Amino acid sequence: MGSRDLLPITWKRDASEEEYERARVGRVFNHRRPDRYPVAIVEAEKEAHILQAVQLAQEKNLRVSVRSGGHSWAAWSVRDNSILIDLGNYKQIQLDEKTGIVAVSPSTTGRMLNSMLREKGLLFPGGHCPDVGLGGFLLQGGMGWVCRGWGWACQYVKAIDVVTADGQQLRCDEQQNEDLFWAARGAGPGFPAIITRFYLQTKPLPTHIRSSTYVFSKKHFKIALDWVRSIAEAYDRDTELVCVGLSLPDYEDSVVLVNLTTFKKSDDDAITALQIAEDSVPSGYLEKNFARSTSLQQEYVQQAQANPERHRYCSDNAYIDNNSDVASVLEEAFTTLPSRKSFALWFAMAPSSRRPLPEMALSMQSDHYLAIYTIWETAEDDSRCQRWTRNVMSKIEPYSVGQYLGDSDFQVRNTKYWGEEQGKKLMQIREKWNPEGRVCGYLDSGDQSGVKGLRNRL
Ligand SMILES: Cc1cc2nc3c(=O)[nH]c(=O)nc-3n(C[C@H](O)[C@H](O)[C@H](O)COP(=O)(O)OP(=O)(O)OC[C@H]3O[C@@H](n4cnc5c(N)ncnc54)[C@H](O)[C@@H]3O)c2cc1C
Repeated sequence: MGSRDLLPITWKRDASEEEYERARVGRVFNHRRPDRYPVAIVEAEKEAHILQAVQLAQEKNLRVSVRSGGHSWAAWSVRDNSILIDLGNYKQIQLDEKTGIVAVSPSTTGRMLNSMLREKGLLFPGGHCPDVGLGGFLLQGGMGWVCRGWGWACQYVKAIDVVTADGQQLRCDEQQNEDLFWAARGAGPGFPAIITRFYLQTKPLPTHIRSSTYVFSKKHFKIALDWVRSIAEAYDRDTELVCVGLSLPDYEDSVVLVNLTTFKKSDDDAITALQIAEDSVPSGYLEKNFARSTSLQQEYVQQAQANPERHRYCSDNAYIDNNSDVASVLEEAFTTLPSRKSFALWFAMAPSSRRPLPEMALSMQSDHYLAIYTIWETAEDDSRCQRWTRNVMSKIEPYSVGQYLGDSDFQVRNTKYWGEEQGKKLMQIREKWNPEGRVCGYLDSGDQSGVKGLRNRL
């Protein structure tokens, strides 16, 4: 076997059950575990291991799947007839201080990257949850901090390094292998190669972060959403606006929380940005907290609490048609949550959603992003919680123009993910670079989609 002896690999047939399970799902966030069993798991520590794993898959005629942060809700990395390449032990962050471009390995998380960048007065608009891997997040587009104002996280990708399905190591950017670079910004978990490094443009760090919250009873959901929706498009560009249906410890019933978080260079700027909401909030709220001082680290802690580890999850999402009565469409999702830990979220996407996007696969957006995160603890609740999610989403679907790949599960629901032209182009690029389906594609029901990919139809 030569140097391959050094490959950190766990074979299903040789490992103890405990060791195999650790390698198969130990880094998967969702504790609703999949019934899918890779033939082997390579826990890559360096780029050479990724290449070796692809060569091994070629020899054995197996597929390869990839895991960066393990946070895809449907555990897309765990596949039958495959070698799973887990990038958790392959860690690299290198900043070029002259250009502000940082080279990162795909298992780097938003929190890791931003704690390093903070020292240098820089920020990257990664995922809200601290431990999401940049790999899966950026491939889908990446709804990071202040997406409505700062754009999609993938718009900050300047180049990528990949290992292709046939074992070539390539740099992809605007000048070389442009089609792979185009696909890497929006293909999601059907990207036809393995990314080994992202080169990301960072931003100057806004040092003054403040947040306002307004809590309404759920019977006032429509008043709350109509209000925040009415101010969203013209609102300050450094401010994130969300409306969440959730349970809070002080309230027996679930409530509706409107939150605005602003990222500014000075306290005065931050307070001014939040004042517009403060001056227009409708009466009848249960409590409010105006312009609380916060930090990215504190926000990460709150996000991690809202998405607890070792729980069972299902999520679904929809871009709601700009012309619909959004509050009426979302009311059931926000006011009938099936467990105290579950939440429904409306995320303001305008004005970003109204700007033309650069040339890239990501091409689906509307002003209103809805996501449902159903969270529970034990297997007995699996069918009740999943049924609630499917039922609520089936009523929202007619008002939807498509879906974000990030919070979707193609085994449950298939819809539109890209514009017409972009969807076709993406499937052609996938076929060109991965003609044999060596790299696992989109995980639909029965894992059938292969090279063909998704239908991309409402
Ligand atoms: C608690 C929580 C909070 C979240 N918050 C946000 C948020 O704020 N914004 C947002 O946009 N999304 C968010 N998400 C969704 C998240 O971005 C996606 O689930 C994403 O796929 C996770 O990336 P990952 O690398 O951690 O996942 P993984 O499961 O490791 O990867 C998902 C899939 O992406 C592909 N992939 C990953 N890395 C590579 C690579 N190097 N090369 C080729 N293909 C690769 C593979 O198909 C892989 O199976 C959240 C998810 C969770 C669980």
